[in-house]
Amino acid sequence: MSTMTARRFIIVVALAGAYILVARFGLAMDAVSGFATLVWPPTGLSLAALLLVDEDAWAGVAIGAFVTNAWAGATVPVALGIALGNTLEAVAAAWALRRFADFHPSIDRLNDALALVALAALGSTLISATIGVGSLVLGHRIDVEAAGHTWRAWWLGDTMGDLVVAPLLMTMAPVRRSLDEPPSRRRIVEALALEAATIASAVWLFGARSNQPMASFREAYMIFPLLVWAALRFGSRGAAVATFSTSAIAIAGAASGRGPFLHGRLADSLVSLQVFMAIAATTTLILGAIAQERRHALALRDSLLSVASHELRTPLSALQLRAQMLTRGMIHRDASAERLEDDALAIERHVKRLSGLVEDLLDISRIMAGRLRLQIEPVDLNVLLREVVDRLAPEERERVRLEATGASVVGQWDRSRVDQVVTNLLSNAIKYGAEAPVEVSLGCDGDRARIAIRDQGIGIAAADQERIFGRFERAQESSKNAVGFGLGLWIVKQIVDAAGGSVHVKSELGKGSIFTVELPLGAAPEAPSPGSPERLAHR
Ligand code: ADP
Repeated sequence: MSTMTARRFIIVVALAGAYILVARFGLAMDAVSGFATLVWPPTGLSLAALLLVDEDAWAGVAIGAFVTNAWAGATVPVALGIALGNTLEAVAAAWALRRFADFHPSIDRLNDALALVALAALGSTLISATIGVGSLVLGHRIDVEAAGHTWRAWWLGDTMGDLVVAPLLMTMAPVRRSLDEPPSRRRIVEALALEAATIASAVWLFGARSNQPMASFREAYMIFPLLVWAALRFGSRGAAVATFSTSAIAIAGAASGRGPFLHGRLADSLVSLQVFMAIAATTTLILGAIAQERRHALALRDSLLSVASHELRTPLSALQLRAQMLTRGMIHRDASAERLEDDALAIERHVKRLSGLVEDLLDISRIMAGRLRLQIEPVDLNVLLREVVDRLAPEERERVRLEATGASVVGQWDRSRVDQVVTNLLSNAIKYGAEAPVEVSLGCDGDRARIAIRDQGIGIAAADQERIFGRFERAQESSKNAVGFGLGLWIVKQIVDAAGGSVHVKSELGKGSIFTVELPLGAAPEAPSPGSPERLAHR
């Protein structure tokens, strides 16, 4: 068995096992008609697993759902029907979130929270409830008259799985982002105090028997200030933890006949409770995502300002020094012609470097405002690559081996943008290339040109390989040793996308990296092109 299938096999088995475990817990909560439970954490577990671990691990959901329902007494056809519904629910939710929402499982933007609520919690759950209840009716497990309230319980239970369980798993999963700072002691203390207050208040509100003092005063909505605190101060992770804690305590309360939502049967109490929790969870998640987005924007601005001033100062001081030397030499007429020429050339180099940096900064605002316009003309990549290499400083040029094809590779591109792509990739290969040789090769694959830039440097960890194409994203090791905006690869990706091409990295830590750019030889598609404002502005 290859390592890939072995890995998937383990994931599928683990997911099925975890599914059965949490499903048994849900079924213990007075399941309507024996199968439709108002507490259904497996839905959230499945979605988080497909989004975070392996999107092709749906077999784990199918096996988990089948075993759970067969175990609970469903006939094989009914259990298969239910399993089909539950699997489709998870697959459809994960697919829709990826396809339509460019979803971040860390729920760090308002759009992520809205997409999770609309596409997953409210949308995909219709599939499972409908197929599941349909299977029960067709298998004569329930009467048609019971279908309505069974469906409601099923849908609500699954919705809560996506609103309460999925966010907890997704926001607690470790993702490293350069802008995240390790939490200070004060923040840890605040988080613990908040969690303690949330648990205490939830126990007080949802754990009271109706004959206890002030029971009628204990209203569920009193939990809101704590949920708001969690969302505003701790973003989506705070929101997820606070709603999960509240929800778990409230369900335990209702199951033991306590709290403000009691109506005869547990299933009826749970309907009122879950409707309340759905509203609370949605509100808190949205607030948390907005808070996170705002903090992220502020951190972006700060890091842009500090990196910009740091990065610009170095070439600026070098420039200043050379300019002083040049002036002094000219005033005192004591410098040789070679010295003066040397100074002038150095000044030119520093000015180039500075204007390159300023261009990068202008590019972010241009790209974010969707004003990246391509000027298409015939470009020969052989010639362009040679020009880029020739522009390098002599000691850098010595390290580069250019392997161009014999034939010319001519396509319809924006010359200066393609130049920028190659320049950025090549200067990274030199910067992170551990002083070792760098290879640049050019090829042609049918109607696509392929440029590969290979170094033998520090390499990039697998976990970072996708992330580094994001704005201000840098891999941990290099951000300590080399200064940079973390913008180069982002700009590369925006340009290549706009040209209808693609860029990939293959790398191993300590061994080196290969960046490959593929560009279609024909002109980039006209409107609506990938470079149209909408596409670029949302990156
Ligand atoms: P910058 O170089 O300014 O940090 P980039 O967007 O060009 O920004 O690159 C992002 C990050 O990707 C770098 O900080 C570095 O961690 C990593 N990286 C890029 N190219 C390479 C490479 N050839 N080898 C190793 N790491 C690289």
